[in-house]
Amino acid sequence: MLDALSDRLQTTFKRLGSRGKITEEDLDVALREVRVALLEADVNFKVVRDFIGRVRERALGADVTQSVTPGQQIVSIVNQELVEVLGGDSEPLRTASSGPTKILVCGIKGSGKTTLCGRLAQRLKRDGMKPMLVSTDFERLAATEQLQVLGRQIDVPVYFEEREAPAAEVGKRALKEAERLGVNAIIVDTRGGVALDDALADELAALADEIDPIEVLIVVDAMTGQEAVTLAKEFDEAIEGTGIVVTKLDSDTRGGAVLSVREVTGLPVKFITTGERLEALEDFHPDRFASRVLGMGDIVSLVERAQQTMGERNVEDVARRMKTGQFDLEDFLQQLDQLRQMGPLSGMLDMIPGMAQLKDKAQIADMNEAFLNKSEAIIQSMTIEERRNPDLLNGSRRRRIAGGSGTTPADVNRLLNQYREAKKLMQAMAGGKGGGLRRMLGF
Ligand code: GDP
Ligand code: MG
Repeated sequence: MLDALSDRLQTTFKRLGSRGKITEEDLDVALREVRVALLEADVNFKVVRDFIGRVRERALGADVTQSVTPGQQIVSIVNQELVEVLGGDSEPLRTASSGPTKILVCGIKGSGKTTLCGRLAQRLKRDGMKPMLVSTDFERLAATEQLQVLGRQIDVPVYFEEREAPAAEVGKRALKEAERLGVNAIIVDTRGGVALDDALADELAALADEIDPIEVLIVVDAMTGQEAVTLAKEFDEAIEGTGIVVTKLDSDTRGGAVLSVREVTGLPVKFITTGERLEALEDFHPDRFASRVLGMGDIVSLVERAQQTMGERNVEDVARRMKTGQFDLEDFLQQLDQLRQMGPLSGMLDMIPGMAQLKDKAQIADMNEAFLNKSEAIIQSMTIEERRNPDLLNGSRRRRIAGGSGTTPADVNRLLNQYREAKKLMQAMAGGKGGGLRRMLGF
């Protein structure tokens, strides 16, 4: 599903990923590739234009002091904007708080309506409800039969009429039958037609008036690309939808429909379907879908974790102190604490700009959990004055601190060396172009 798009985006971002700094030019090259990838995936051009504009603006405004590489940060921004374009939070199927939950399913012929009705019935049944299926499609004899077969398969009653009648009338009688049977969910299948003409629009509007559904689901076939989005808009204008279902995402589709339909119609995508089997129904989660498209969930979650643990203020504050050479043992303690909160260190080191290359060279590679514990104990055994002014730490003070923290003077010395390394490193990093850092480390 959406493999081509996903592959292209990953290639684009991998090219950015290892860079310490990204210029506006780099960003534009990357965004141009993202744009082409989205257009090739058949995403609506207006949606693409707005999307790229928002990503660019955010990327340029993003704070460079964040403890991730700019490449990773752009992946994260693209991810966040994808989630937005897909609707933000997921919106599950609504159920009525009193009376039966009534769902109207509409869309053109072949979009997957009848199959979806079966799927929803199965789902509701699994969730402990008592659903009933209703056929109002007289266009094809097979349509009613298809629904009956599905009903038998999942053991759900199906209401249908032998003689052709207006859909609204069938709907009205179906509601009576539902009451008689004591069901609490009614799923109404409708006639499709090859296009949404006036007759179909009127028929559906009358049916909707009659049954007063809590959900009007508009079903569109992902394989039809932009056409699916246009149709969704037309259906929504004709009968006011409450949600979209995008079907056939399993087939070799480019996926543009899913990525455009929310932005174009304003309606949430509630489900996607990914196969012919009845079970191939998935709740739609914008965030999960975005990371599927991006295929870079690992980077995204790293950036999120970094943002959660390092409050923006704090990062800026430390950066300022680094630049002015004020980085003291208190800052160091705070950094150690943040490193710990962020989880296993080996993975974290790669996230810090410049660290990936550094790992074997600097002593910082030794920062494991045990080291963190010991370091914290040592710094905590110092007075505030000592933390702010490490030059005070003469031999007798170091012995006192070793005793207080249950360590040895050698441990204290090692910690002070690490601190000095970190301070040098940070000054070099804060110094700008990275040349200073490279000079310092001799590579
Ligand atoms: P309707 O005319 O809108 O009622 O569409 P149907 O429910 O009859 O579905 C039309 C065809 O699409 C059937 O052959 C379904 O099996 C197939 N179909 C529906 N959903 C999916 C899907 O998610 N993936 C695939 N591959 N086929 C699907
Ligand atoms: Mg049908």
